Amino acid sequence: MNAGDGPVHVDVAQVFARPGVDAPLGPSRLHLDAGRIVRIEALADLPTAARHHVALPAPADAHDHGRGLRTLAFGARDQSLETWLPELAFEPRVDPYLRAAVAFARMAEGGIAAANHCHNTQDSQALLKEAEGVARAARDVGLRIGFAVPFAGRNGVVYGPLEPLLAHLPAADHARVHAMRQPTRTLQQNFALVEEIAQLEHEGFRVQYGPVGPQWVDDEAMAAIALASADTGRRVHMHLFETQRQRAWADAHYPRGLLRHLDGIGLLSPRLTVAHAVWLDDDDCGLLAERGVTVSANVSSNLRLRTGLPPWRRYLDAGLRFGLGLDGMSLDDDEDMLREMRLAWHQLQTADAGSDERFALGDLFRAVCVHGRQSITGADGGGELATGAPADILVLDTRRLSRDVLAEAPDHRLERLIARMTKRDIHRLIVGGRSVVHDARCQSVDLPALEAALTADAEAAWQRQPPDAPAIERLRVAVRAHYRCGGCGPGGQSGEGGSHGRG
Ligand SMILES: [Zn+2]
Repeated sequence: MNAGDGPVHVDVAQVFARPGVDAPLGPSRLHLDAGRIVRIEALADLPTAARHHVALPAPADAHDHGRGLRTLAFGARDQSLETWLPELAFEPRVDPYLRAAVAFARMAEGGIAAANHCHNTQDSQALLKEAEGVARAARDVGLRIGFAVPFAGRNGVVYGPLEPLLAHLPAADHARVHAMRQPTRTLQQNFALVEEIAQLEHEGFRVQYGPVGPQWVDDEAMAAIALASADTGRRVHMHLFETQRQRAWADAHYPRGLLRHLDGIGLLSPRLTVAHAVWLDDDDCGLLAERGVTVSANVSSNLRLRTGLPPWRRYLDAGLRFGLGLDGMSLDDDEDMLREMRLAWHQLQTADAGSDERFALGDLFRAVCVHGRQSITGADGGGELATGAPADILVLDTRRLSRDVLAEAPDHRLERLIARMTKRDIHRLIVGGRSVVHDARCQSVDLPALEAALTADAEAAWQRQPPDAPAIERLRVAVRAHYRCGGCGPGGQSGEGGSHGRG
Protein backbone atom coordinates (compact mmCIF):
# COMPACT_ATOMS: atom_id res chain seq x y z
CA MET A 1 0.00 0.00 0.00
CA ASN A 2 1.75 3.08 -1.18
CA ALA A 3 0.28 6.12 0.52
CA GLY A 4 2.57 8.41 -1.46
CA ASP A 5 0.33 8.55 -4.52
CA GLY A 6 -2.91 9.21 -2.66
CA PRO A 7 -4.75 12.44 -2.02
CA VAL A 8 -3.74 14.37 1.09
CA HIS A 9 -7.33 15.29 1.75
CA VAL A 10 -10.84 14.42 0.59
CA ASP A 11 -13.71 16.93 0.58
CA VAL A 12 -17.27 15.67 0.83
CA ALA A 13 -20.73 17.05 1.52
CA GLN A 14 -21.45 14.36 4.10
CA VAL A 15 -19.49 11.87 6.16
CA PHE A 16 -21.16 8.66 7.32
CA ALA A 17 -18.48 7.83 9.87
CA ARG A 18 -20.45 4.87 11.24
CA PRO A 19 -23.37 4.67 8.82
CA GLY A 20 -26.69 4.18 10.53
CA VAL A 21 -25.15 4.64 13.98
CA ASP A 22 -23.97 8.24 14.10
CA ALA A 23 -25.77 11.13 12.44
CA PRO A 24 -23.81 12.09 9.32
CA LEU A 25 -21.39 14.99 9.51
CA GLY A 26 -21.97 17.90 7.14
CA PRO A 27 -19.42 19.35 4.69
CA SER A 28 -16.05 18.01 5.76
CA ARG A 29 -12.43 17.63 4.79
CA LEU A 30 -10.82 14.30 5.69
CA HIS A 31 -7.09 14.80 6.10
CA LEU A 32 -5.01 11.73 5.25
CA ASP A 33 -1.42 10.90 6.08
CA ALA A 34 0.64 7.71 5.98
CA GLY A 35 -2.40 5.63 5.07
CA ARG A 36 -4.58 6.90 7.91
CA ILE A 37 -7.23 9.49 8.59
CA VAL A 38 -5.50 12.11 10.72
CA ARG A 39 -8.27 14.68 11.07
CA ILE A 40 -11.88 15.31 10.01
CA GLU A 41 -12.41 19.04 9.67
CA ALA A 42 -15.77 20.80 9.24
CA LEU A 43 -15.74 22.88 6.05
CA ALA A 44 -17.45 26.26 5.89
CA ASP A 45 -16.85 26.47 2.15
CA LEU A 46 -17.38 23.20 0.30
CA PRO A 47 -15.82 23.15 -3.18
CA THR A 48 -18.58 22.88 -5.83
CA ALA A 49 -17.12 19.66 -7.23
CA ALA A 50 -17.70 17.92 -3.88
CA ARG A 51 -21.32 19.00 -3.47
CA HIS A 52 -22.70 15.55 -4.39
CA HIS A 53 -20.02 13.45 -2.71
CA VAL A 54 -20.58 11.42 0.44
CA ALA A 55 -17.97 9.38 2.32
CA LEU A 56 -18.54 5.96 3.86
CA PRO A 57 -16.25 3.28 5.26
CA ALA A 58 -15.14 0.98 2.42
CA PRO A 59 -16.74 -2.50 2.27
CA ALA A 60 -14.91 -5.81 2.59
CA ASP A 61 -15.54 -8.99 0.59
CA ALA A 62 -15.27 -11.68 3.24
CA HIS A 63 -15.11 -14.67 0.90
CA ASP A 64 -13.74 -14.88 -2.62
CA HIS A 65 -11.43 -16.83 -4.91
CA GLY A 66 -9.68 -14.25 -7.10
CA ARG A 67 -10.35 -15.91 -10.43
CA GLY A 68 -9.55 -13.36 -13.12
CA LEU A 69 -11.60 -15.32 -15.62
CA ARG A 70 -15.19 -15.44 -14.47
CA THR A 71 -16.59 -18.96 -14.42
CA LEU A 72 -19.07 -18.17 -17.20
CA ALA A 73 -16.18 -16.89 -19.32
CA PHE A 74 -14.60 -20.33 -19.48
CA GLY A 75 -17.83 -22.25 -19.79
CA ALA A 76 -18.92 -23.23 -16.27
CA ARG A 77 -22.65 -22.57 -16.16
CA ASP A 78 -24.64 -21.52 -13.11
CA GLN A 79 -26.25 -24.66 -11.68
CA SER A 80 -26.24 -26.65 -8.46
CA LEU A 81 -22.87 -26.59 -6.74
CA GLU A 82 -22.38 -30.32 -7.09
CA THR A 83 -22.61 -30.39 -10.87
CA TRP A 84 -20.88 -27.01 -11.22
CA LEU A 85 -17.65 -28.21 -9.60
CA PRO A 86 -16.74 -30.59 -12.47
CA GLU A 87 -17.15 -27.71 -14.94
CA LEU A 88 -14.47 -25.69 -13.12
CA ALA A 89 -12.03 -28.02 -14.88
CA PHE A 90 -12.57 -25.88 -17.97
CA GLU A 91 -10.52 -23.06 -16.47
CA PRO A 92 -7.39 -22.53 -18.57
CA ARG A 93 -4.07 -22.39 -16.74
CA VAL A 94 -3.05 -18.74 -16.92
CA ASP A 95 -0.41 -16.48 -15.47
CA PRO A 96 -1.07 -16.28 -11.69
CA TYR A 97 -0.34 -12.55 -11.55
CA LEU A 98 -2.76 -11.70 -14.38
CA ARG A 99 -5.41 -13.96 -12.89
CA ALA A 100 -5.28 -12.21 -9.51
CA ALA A 101 -4.69 -8.66 -10.77
CA VAL A 102 -7.77 -8.74 -13.00
CA ALA A 103 -9.87 -10.16 -10.16
CA PHE A 104 -8.64 -7.59 -7.64
CA ALA A 105 -9.02 -4.61 -9.98
CA ARG A 106 -12.61 -5.65 -10.72
CA MET A 107 -13.27 -6.03 -7.01
CA ALA A 108 -11.91 -2.54 -6.45
CA GLU A 109 -14.29 -1.20 -9.09
CA GLY A 110 -17.01 -3.05 -7.18
CA GLY A 111 -16.24 -0.97 -4.08
CA ILE A 112 -14.14 -3.55 -2.22
CA ALA A 113 -11.15 -2.42 -0.14
CA ALA A 114 -10.32 -5.74 1.51
CA ALA A 115 -10.98 -9.30 0.39
CA ASN A 116 -10.50 -12.84 1.48
CA HIS A 117 -8.80 -14.83 -1.26
CA CYS A 118 -9.43 -18.59 -0.96
CA HIS A 119 -6.78 -19.63 -3.38
CA ASN A 120 -7.70 -22.31 -5.92
CA THR A 121 -4.43 -23.65 -7.27
CA GLN A 122 -4.06 -24.11 -10.99
CA ASP A 123 -0.91 -26.19 -10.61
CA SER A 124 -0.77 -27.91 -7.25
CA GLN A 125 3.02 -28.12 -7.45
CA ALA A 126 3.40 -24.39 -8.10
CA LEU A 127 1.49 -22.95 -5.17
CA LEU A 128 4.38 -20.77 -4.00
CA LYS A 129 4.80 -19.26 -7.44
CA GLU A 130 1.06 -18.65 -7.66
CA ALA A 131 1.10 -16.99 -4.23
CA GLU A 132 3.89 -14.69 -5.41
CA GLY A 133 1.68 -13.56 -8.28
CA VAL A 134 -1.24 -12.95 -5.92
CA ALA A 135 0.93 -11.00 -3.46
CA ARG A 136 2.26 -8.80 -6.27
CA ALA A 137 -1.25 -8.24 -7.66
CA ALA A 138 -2.49 -7.22 -4.18
CA ARG A 139 0.31 -4.66 -3.98
CA ASP A 140 -0.16 -3.29 -7.50
CA VAL A 141 -3.94 -2.98 -7.31
CA GLY A 142 -3.78 -1.79 -3.71
CA LEU A 143 -6.32 -3.98 -1.90
CA ARG A 144 -5.91 -5.73 1.44
CA ILE A 145 -5.91 -9.46 0.74
CA GLY A 146 -6.18 -12.35 3.19
CA PHE A 147 -4.64 -15.31 1.34
CA ALA A 148 -6.02 -18.68 2.48
CA VAL A 149 -3.54 -21.48 1.70
CA PRO A 150 -5.66 -24.45 0.57
CA PHE A 151 -5.58 -27.69 2.57
CA ALA A 152 -7.53 -30.62 1.09
CA GLY A 153 -7.03 -34.36 1.09
CA ARG A 154 -10.17 -36.48 1.15
CA ASN A 155 -13.47 -36.99 -0.61
CA GLY A 156 -12.43 -35.39 -3.87
CA VAL A 157 -15.02 -35.70 -6.68
CA VAL A 158 -17.76 -37.12 -4.40
CA TYR A 159 -18.17 -37.83 -0.71
CA GLY A 160 -17.66 -41.35 0.40
CA PRO A 161 -16.43 -44.13 -1.84
CA LEU A 162 -15.95 -43.54 -5.55
CA GLU A 163 -17.46 -46.84 -6.70
CA PRO A 164 -21.10 -45.70 -6.79
CA LEU A 165 -20.10 -42.76 -8.96
CA LEU A 166 -17.93 -44.89 -11.23
CA ALA A 167 -20.98 -47.03 -11.97
CA HIS A 168 -22.28 -44.03 -13.92
CA LEU A 169 -19.09 -43.63 -15.96
CA PRO A 170 -17.50 -45.63 -18.79
CA ALA A 171 -14.52 -47.74 -17.68
CA ALA A 172 -12.16 -45.57 -19.72
CA ASP A 173 -12.86 -42.65 -17.35
CA HIS A 174 -12.20 -44.52 -14.12
CA ALA A 175 -8.44 -44.03 -13.89
CA ARG A 176 -8.81 -40.30 -14.47
CA VAL A 177 -11.42 -39.96 -11.73
CA HIS A 178 -9.27 -42.02 -9.32
CA ALA A 179 -6.36 -39.68 -10.09
CA MET A 180 -8.52 -36.64 -9.30
CA ARG A 181 -8.97 -38.00 -5.81
CA GLN A 182 -5.26 -38.26 -5.00
CA PRO A 183 -4.02 -35.62 -2.53
CA THR A 184 -1.51 -33.43 -4.31
CA ARG A 185 0.55 -32.27 -1.31
CA THR A 186 1.31 -33.78 2.08
CA LEU A 187 0.29 -32.04 5.30
CA GLN A 188 3.94 -31.29 6.05
CA GLN A 189 4.44 -29.77 2.60
CA ASN A 190 1.40 -27.56 3.14
CA PHE A 191 2.58 -26.26 6.50
CA ALA A 192 6.01 -25.56 5.01
CA LEU A 193 4.31 -23.66 2.17
CA VAL A 194 2.33 -21.54 4.64
CA GLU A 195 5.64 -20.41 6.18
CA GLU A 196 7.19 -19.72 2.77
CA ILE A 197 4.14 -17.77 1.60
CA ALA A 198 4.20 -15.83 4.88
CA GLN A 199 7.59 -14.47 3.73
CA LEU A 200 5.66 -12.62 1.02
CA GLU A 201 3.44 -10.77 3.50
CA HIS A 202 3.04 -7.02 3.21
CA GLU A 203 0.40 -4.59 4.45
CA GLY A 204 -1.96 -5.71 1.68
CA PHE A 205 -1.21 -9.44 1.84
CA ARG A 206 -1.68 -11.66 4.90
CA VAL A 207 -1.60 -15.44 5.06
CA GLN A 208 -4.33 -17.62 6.57
CA TYR A 209 -4.85 -21.37 6.89
CA GLY A 210 -7.44 -22.48 4.35
CA PRO A 211 -8.89 -25.93 5.09
CA VAL A 212 -11.17 -26.06 2.06
CA GLY A 213 -14.09 -27.62 3.92
CA PRO A 214 -14.58 -30.25 6.64
CA GLN A 215 -15.68 -32.89 4.14
CA TRP A 216 -12.48 -32.35 2.15
CA VAL A 217 -9.94 -32.22 5.00
CA ASP A 218 -9.18 -35.22 7.19
CA ASP A 219 -9.38 -35.07 10.96
CA GLU A 220 -5.62 -35.14 11.46
CA ALA A 221 -5.04 -32.15 9.20
CA MET A 222 -7.91 -30.21 10.75
CA ALA A 223 -6.53 -30.78 14.26
CA ALA A 224 -3.06 -29.71 13.13
CA ILE A 225 -4.49 -26.52 11.62
CA ALA A 226 -6.38 -25.72 14.83
CA LEU A 227 -3.16 -26.12 16.78
CA ALA A 228 -1.08 -24.09 14.33
CA SER A 229 -3.61 -21.26 14.36
CA ALA A 230 -3.57 -21.16 18.18
CA ASP A 231 0.25 -21.13 18.13
CA THR A 232 0.78 -18.52 15.45
CA GLY A 233 -2.37 -16.41 15.82
CA ARG A 234 -2.98 -16.80 12.08
CA ARG A 235 -6.58 -16.80 10.96
CA VAL A 236 -8.39 -19.80 9.46
CA HIS A 237 -10.88 -19.62 6.58
CA MET A 238 -13.05 -22.58 5.61
CA HIS A 239 -16.18 -23.38 3.59
CA LEU A 240 -18.89 -24.87 5.83
CA PHE A 241 -22.29 -26.41 5.11
CA GLU A 242 -22.73 -24.76 1.73
CA THR A 243 -25.20 -27.42 0.58
CA GLN A 244 -27.67 -29.72 2.20
CA ARG A 245 -25.67 -32.72 0.99
CA GLN A 246 -22.60 -31.48 2.83
CA ARG A 247 -24.70 -31.29 5.97
CA ALA A 248 -26.07 -34.80 5.43
CA TRP A 249 -22.54 -36.16 4.95
CA ALA A 250 -21.37 -34.50 8.14
CA ASP A 251 -24.37 -35.76 10.14
CA ALA A 252 -23.63 -39.31 8.98
CA HIS A 253 -19.91 -39.11 9.77
CA TYR A 254 -20.02 -37.20 13.04
CA PRO A 255 -23.02 -38.57 14.97
CA ARG A 256 -22.27 -36.21 17.88
CA GLY A 257 -22.21 -33.31 15.46
CA LEU A 258 -19.48 -31.96 13.19
CA LEU A 259 -19.31 -28.64 15.00
CA ARG A 260 -18.95 -30.34 18.39
CA HIS A 261 -16.08 -32.30 16.88
CA LEU A 262 -14.43 -29.16 15.47
CA ASP A 263 -14.90 -27.49 18.84
CA GLY A 264 -13.27 -30.45 20.56
CA ILE A 265 -10.10 -30.01 18.50
CA GLY A 266 -10.04 -26.28 19.18
CA LEU A 267 -10.87 -25.05 15.68
CA LEU A 268 -13.80 -22.85 16.71
CA SER A 269 -12.28 -19.57 17.82
CA PRO A 270 -12.45 -15.85 17.05
CA ARG A 271 -9.70 -16.54 14.47
CA LEU A 272 -12.03 -18.68 12.35
CA THR A 273 -14.23 -17.53 9.45
CA VAL A 274 -16.67 -19.98 7.86
CA ALA A 275 -18.01 -19.26 4.39
CA HIS A 276 -21.63 -19.94 3.38
CA ALA A 277 -22.96 -21.60 6.57
CA VAL A 278 -26.30 -22.07 4.85
CA TRP A 279 -27.27 -25.31 6.60
CA LEU A 280 -26.56 -24.39 10.23
CA ASP A 281 -29.14 -25.33 12.84
CA ASP A 282 -29.93 -23.41 16.03
CA ASP A 283 -27.34 -25.30 18.11
CA ASP A 284 -24.62 -24.69 15.51
CA CYS A 285 -25.36 -20.97 15.43
CA GLY A 286 -25.30 -20.80 19.23
CA LEU A 287 -21.97 -22.63 19.43
CA LEU A 288 -20.33 -20.56 16.69
CA ALA A 289 -21.53 -17.34 18.33
CA GLU A 290 -20.24 -18.48 21.70
CA ARG A 291 -16.81 -19.17 20.25
CA GLY A 292 -16.64 -15.83 18.44
CA VAL A 293 -16.52 -17.38 14.94
CA THR A 294 -17.40 -15.12 11.97
CA VAL A 295 -19.59 -16.25 9.09
CA SER A 296 -19.16 -14.98 5.54
CA ALA A 297 -22.62 -15.10 3.94
CA ASN A 298 -22.60 -15.25 0.14
CA VAL A 299 -26.08 -14.43 -1.06
CA SER A 300 -25.56 -14.11 -4.82
CA SER A 301 -23.40 -17.20 -4.93
CA ASN A 302 -26.04 -19.15 -3.00
CA LEU A 303 -28.62 -18.12 -5.60
CA ARG A 304 -26.46 -18.91 -8.60
CA LEU A 305 -25.32 -22.27 -7.21
CA ARG A 306 -28.77 -23.23 -5.87
CA THR A 307 -27.51 -23.95 -2.38
CA GLY A 308 -30.26 -22.30 -0.33
CA LEU A 309 -30.16 -18.99 1.54
CA PRO A 310 -28.36 -18.07 4.75
CA PRO A 311 -30.56 -18.78 7.81
CA TRP A 312 -30.55 -15.09 8.73
CA ARG A 313 -33.06 -15.38 11.51
CA ARG A 314 -30.96 -18.04 13.23
CA TYR A 315 -27.87 -15.86 12.89
CA LEU A 316 -29.73 -12.96 14.49
CA ASP A 317 -31.28 -15.07 17.25
CA ALA A 318 -27.86 -16.43 18.20
CA GLY A 319 -26.08 -13.09 17.85
CA LEU A 320 -23.74 -14.70 15.32
CA ARG A 321 -21.28 -12.30 13.77
CA PHE A 322 -21.21 -12.21 9.98
CA GLY A 323 -19.87 -10.36 6.94
CA LEU A 324 -20.69 -10.69 3.25
CA GLY A 325 -18.72 -12.28 0.43
CA LEU A 326 -19.08 -12.43 -3.35
CA ASP A 327 -17.43 -15.84 -3.82
CA GLY A 328 -16.63 -14.83 -7.41
CA MET A 329 -20.35 -15.20 -8.16
CA SER A 330 -22.00 -11.77 -7.82
CA LEU A 331 -25.58 -11.53 -8.98
CA ASP A 332 -24.85 -9.73 -12.27
CA ASP A 333 -21.36 -11.25 -12.52
CA ASP A 334 -19.92 -7.78 -12.11
CA GLU A 335 -18.31 -7.89 -8.62
CA ASP A 336 -20.66 -5.15 -7.38
CA MET A 337 -20.37 -5.26 -3.58
CA LEU A 338 -22.86 -2.41 -3.20
CA ARG A 339 -25.61 -4.39 -4.89
CA GLU A 340 -24.69 -7.43 -2.80
CA MET A 341 -25.24 -5.36 0.33
CA ARG A 342 -28.72 -4.47 -0.93
CA LEU A 343 -29.59 -8.08 -1.66
CA ALA A 344 -28.57 -9.16 1.83
CA TRP A 345 -30.29 -6.15 3.38
CA HIS A 346 -33.66 -7.00 1.85
CA GLN A 347 -33.32 -10.64 2.86
CA LEU A 348 -32.33 -9.71 6.39
CA GLN A 349 -35.24 -7.31 6.71
CA THR A 350 -37.62 -10.00 5.50
CA ALA A 351 -36.18 -12.63 7.84
CA ASP A 352 -36.31 -10.23 10.74
CA ALA A 353 -39.82 -8.93 10.07
CA GLY A 354 -41.86 -8.59 13.25
CA SER A 355 -38.86 -8.27 15.55
CA ASP A 356 -39.07 -4.49 15.84
CA GLU A 357 -36.02 -3.62 13.75
CA ARG A 358 -33.58 -5.77 15.63
CA PHE A 359 -31.32 -5.56 12.59
CA ALA A 360 -30.94 -2.00 11.34
CA LEU A 361 -28.84 -0.31 8.66
CA GLY A 362 -26.09 0.38 11.16
CA ASP A 363 -25.82 -3.37 11.72
CA LEU A 364 -25.55 -4.03 8.00
CA PHE A 365 -22.67 -1.58 7.57
CA ARG A 366 -20.95 -2.95 10.67
CA ALA A 367 -21.32 -6.49 9.31
CA VAL A 368 -19.80 -5.62 5.94
CA CYS A 369 -17.26 -2.94 6.87
CA VAL A 370 -16.13 -4.11 10.32
CA HIS A 371 -16.87 -7.82 10.85
CA GLY A 372 -16.18 -8.87 7.27
CA ARG A 373 -13.04 -6.78 7.25
CA GLN A 374 -11.75 -8.21 10.52
CA SER A 375 -11.96 -11.69 9.05
CA ILE A 376 -9.32 -10.47 6.57
CA THR A 377 -7.20 -7.93 8.41
CA GLY A 378 -7.89 -8.75 12.06
CA ALA A 379 -8.94 -5.88 14.32
CA ASP A 380 -7.14 -2.92 12.77
CA GLY A 381 -9.47 -0.06 13.65
CA GLY A 382 -10.85 -0.05 10.10
CA GLY A 383 -14.46 -0.06 8.98
CA GLU A 384 -15.34 3.37 10.32
CA LEU A 385 -14.17 6.85 9.45
CA ALA A 386 -12.40 8.19 12.52
CA THR A 387 -9.19 9.94 13.44
CA GLY A 388 -6.43 7.35 13.46
CA ALA A 389 -8.38 4.76 11.47
CA PRO A 390 -6.98 3.29 8.23
CA ALA A 391 -7.90 5.58 5.32
CA ASP A 392 -10.16 3.04 3.57
CA ILE A 393 -12.88 5.30 2.24
CA LEU A 394 -15.68 4.89 -0.28
CA VAL A 395 -16.79 8.19 -1.81
CA LEU A 396 -20.06 8.00 -3.71
CA ASP A 397 -21.43 10.50 -6.19
CA THR A 398 -25.10 10.79 -5.25
CA ARG A 399 -26.40 12.59 -8.34
CA ARG A 400 -27.83 9.52 -10.07
CA LEU A 401 -29.22 8.21 -6.79
CA SER A 402 -31.20 11.34 -5.98
CA ARG A 403 -32.03 12.78 -9.40
CA ASP A 404 -35.79 12.17 -9.06
CA VAL A 405 -36.14 12.95 -5.37
CA LEU A 406 -38.48 15.82 -4.59
CA ALA A 407 -36.95 18.76 -2.79
CA GLU A 408 -39.43 18.52 0.07
CA ALA A 409 -39.29 14.74 0.45
CA PRO A 410 -38.15 13.45 3.88
CA ASP A 411 -34.39 13.10 4.10
CA HIS A 412 -33.79 9.35 4.00
CA ARG A 413 -30.34 9.45 2.46
CA LEU A 414 -28.85 6.30 3.92
CA GLU A 415 -32.00 4.30 3.10
CA ARG A 416 -31.76 5.65 -0.43
CA LEU A 417 -28.12 4.65 -0.68
CA ILE A 418 -28.80 1.06 0.33
CA ALA A 419 -31.80 0.92 -2.01
CA ARG A 420 -29.99 2.28 -5.06
CA MET A 421 -26.20 2.46 -4.90
CA THR A 422 -24.18 0.50 -7.42
CA LYS A 423 -20.56 0.48 -8.44
CA ARG A 424 -21.17 3.03 -11.16
CA ASP A 425 -21.83 5.62 -8.44
CA ILE A 426 -18.32 5.31 -7.04
CA HIS A 427 -16.42 8.57 -7.23
CA ARG A 428 -13.42 7.26 -5.33
CA LEU A 429 -12.28 4.18 -3.50
CA ILE A 430 -9.34 5.01 -1.26
CA VAL A 431 -7.43 2.16 0.38
CA GLY A 432 -4.67 2.90 2.87
CA GLY A 433 -4.70 6.49 1.67
CA ARG A 434 -4.18 5.51 -1.96
CA SER A 435 -6.78 6.32 -4.61
CA VAL A 436 -7.51 2.93 -6.19
CA VAL A 437 -10.70 3.83 -8.09
CA HIS A 438 -11.63 7.19 -9.58
CA ASP A 439 -14.95 7.83 -11.32
CA ALA A 440 -15.81 4.14 -11.35
CA ARG A 441 -12.52 3.12 -13.02
CA CYS A 442 -9.59 1.38 -11.41
CA GLN A 443 -6.75 3.84 -11.36
CA SER A 444 -3.91 1.86 -9.80
CA VAL A 445 -3.56 -0.55 -12.73
CA ASP A 446 -4.72 -0.54 -16.36
CA LEU A 447 -7.62 -3.01 -16.05
CA PRO A 448 -8.60 -3.13 -19.76
CA ALA A 449 -4.99 -3.92 -20.70
CA LEU A 450 -4.76 -6.61 -18.00
CA GLU A 451 -8.06 -8.11 -19.15
CA ALA A 452 -6.84 -8.24 -22.74
CA ALA A 453 -3.60 -9.90 -21.66
CA LEU A 454 -5.47 -12.42 -19.51
CA THR A 455 -7.87 -13.32 -22.32
CA ALA A 456 -4.99 -13.79 -24.77
CA ASP A 457 -3.12 -15.90 -22.22
CA ALA A 458 -6.23 -18.05 -21.66
CA GLU A 459 -6.87 -18.55 -25.38
CA ALA A 460 -3.22 -19.57 -25.87
CA ALA A 461 -3.44 -21.98 -22.93
CA TRP A 462 -6.48 -23.65 -24.50
CA GLN A 463 -4.61 -23.91 -27.81
CA ARG A 464 -1.74 -25.68 -26.09
CA GLN A 465 -3.91 -27.80 -23.83
CA PRO A 466 -7.59 -27.91 -24.79
CA PRO A 467 -10.02 -28.96 -22.06
CA ASP A 468 -11.51 -32.42 -22.51
CA ALA A 469 -15.06 -31.14 -22.85
CA PRO A 470 -16.73 -34.53 -23.42
CA ALA A 471 -15.01 -36.01 -20.35
CA ILE A 472 -16.02 -33.03 -18.22
CA GLU A 473 -19.61 -33.41 -19.37
CA ARG A 474 -19.58 -37.17 -18.69
CA LEU A 475 -18.42 -36.49 -15.14
CA ARG A 476 -21.00 -33.75 -14.63
CA VAL A 477 -23.81 -36.02 -15.80
CA ALA A 478 -22.50 -38.89 -13.67
CA VAL A 479 -22.35 -36.68 -10.59
CA ARG A 480 -25.93 -35.61 -11.24
CA ALA A 481 -27.06 -39.22 -11.61
CA HIS A 482 -25.15 -40.13 -8.44
CA TYR A 483 -27.18 -37.61 -6.45
CA ARG A 484 -30.45 -38.48 -8.13
CA CYS A 485 -30.19 -42.01 -6.92
CA GLY A 486 -29.44 -40.80 -3.44
CA GLY A 487 -25.71 -41.31 -3.58
CA CYS A 488 -26.22 -44.93 -4.62
CA GLY A 489 -26.27 -46.80 -1.35
CA PRO A 490 -24.43 -46.96 1.98
CA GLY A 491 -21.54 -44.55 2.48
CA GLY A 492 -22.58 -42.48 -0.46
CA GLN A 493 -25.94 -41.24 0.69
CA SER A 494 -24.74 -37.69 0.60
CA GLY A 495 -22.45 -37.71 -2.38
CA GLU A 496 -20.82 -34.42 -3.24
CA GLY A 497 -18.56 -33.21 -5.99
CA GLY A 498 -14.95 -32.28 -5.56
CA SER A 499 -13.59 -29.49 -3.46
CA HIS A 500 -14.88 -26.00 -4.01
CA GLY A 501 -12.24 -25.41 -6.61
CA ARG A 502 -9.14 -27.49 -6.52
CA GLY A 503 -6.91 -27.41 -3.48
ZN1 LIG B 1 -16.07 -20.25 -2.12
